[in-house]
Amino acid sequence: MYRLLVVCFSLFISGLTFASAAPKNIILLIGDGMGEAEIALARAYEFNGDAGMFVDTMKNQGSVIVKQFMVADPSKIEFAGSSGSGGTTISTGYRTSENRIAVSAVDGSHYKTIMEEAQERGFKTGLVTTANIADATPATFAAHSQNRYCYVQGLSACDQFGDIPTVEQFLDHNVDVMLGGGYNFLPVGEAGGGTIREKAIAHGYKVVTDREALLELEAGTKTFGLFSDGHMPVEWVGPGGRGADFIKVDDYLRANRKVIFPEPAACELNPEHKGMPKLEEMSKFALDSLKNDDEGFFLMIEGASIDKQSHEANACGTIGEMLAFDRTVKIAVDYAKKNGDTAVIVTADHGGPTQVIYRPASFGRGVIREQIPGLYQRLLTKGGHELAVHYGTNNYDDQSHSGVNVPIFTYGLDNPELLTGTIQQTEIYGVMKNFLFN
Ligand SMILES: [Zn+2]
Repeated sequence: MYRLLVVCFSLFISGLTFASAAPKNIILLIGDGMGEAEIALARAYEFNGDAGMFVDTMKNQGSVIVKQFMVADPSKIEFAGSSGSGGTTISTGYRTSENRIAVSAVDGSHYKTIMEEAQERGFKTGLVTTANIADATPATFAAHSQNRYCYVQGLSACDQFGDIPTVEQFLDHNVDVMLGGGYNFLPVGEAGGGTIREKAIAHGYKVVTDREALLELEAGTKTFGLFSDGHMPVEWVGPGGRGADFIKVDDYLRANRKVIFPEPAACELNPEHKGMPKLEEMSKFALDSLKNDDEGFFLMIEGASIDKQSHEANACGTIGEMLAFDRTVKIAVDYAKKNGDTAVIVTADHGGPTQVIYRPASFGRGVIREQIPGLYQRLLTKGGHELAVHYGTNNYDDQSHSGVNVPIFTYGLDNPELLTGTIQQTEIYGVMKNFLFN
């Protein structure tokens, strides 16, 4: 009799366990414009090229093919991507064209995003970025528009296709936690006749605009936190605030077949970053807030200015943001190890323009200015080595993306092999969907 009771009790317990599978969580970290070159740059500066980045410890790793459709003719492929199209491909499984946010490149019809589907199923959701909150990458998870620059009403970008402004879509979406830059949006009007701040409050958000207020909030508070006017100031700047420079050649040097290279120097802290919440702090708040035993969550965290700083040919800016992003990846993996049932996926939307090159003397043979393209920076690494960085997609500080494959690192997936080896960017969506919903 006793044995029978034990058996019945065990069956009851195992039945319960089976019926209430633990909720699943995904922490998706997107390093904007984070190709292997941007990781290599940070690794060289901080760790002498040794495997000191946290992502270097993540053994489930793949290589992602990035491409997008051409704006003028969506039947044609472009072999370098951008944030709107890359984010859309990750969030929906569909490729699109530059500047489009979770819509078709052909007719603007909406693609449902993984975050929208998670919300419909009761998951909690969060968006964390160092860009303005409505920038392309977070937008591709909780908005749909044909012009990524339609952030709020009154911008000419909204007129082009009549898109609903991204910030209004975010608030109507009731994403549980949104943290980033862009407090200049708060006083702007919205469709209901009030301001963005009033709309957020009406939707039950606590609106915060500084680090102290964020850190004082109770975890779980529905939060709209915007901490700078536009994109958040980056952690590091170049020596003396300078990014990469032209290589100088004058008549004397030309005659003597010599060129002047910028002197190598160390990166510096950006004074403007002081007082900003760090990406780690925003991410920790989001994780603490979304954690729940009933529903699970989907959280997207973006290191946005890895990309923005390499556009500006500012190697130190990229390095500082890359290291902050890498520390945040560790926080996400630690969370997954501690709490279980959590997959961490780390990838990029597209590659950037950064090139780590070797000794600058290789330019010495070409002493005509026109033969020395792009911008150039020499850094003195933490280990005292010279690090040479080149930006050559044009001759001014608005460098282009590049068509390199981007890395993907994962932790905690049931089938990690699906995202190893060489994969298409479209494949990430299906793996996330399977993990969360099956
Ligand atoms: Zn970019």
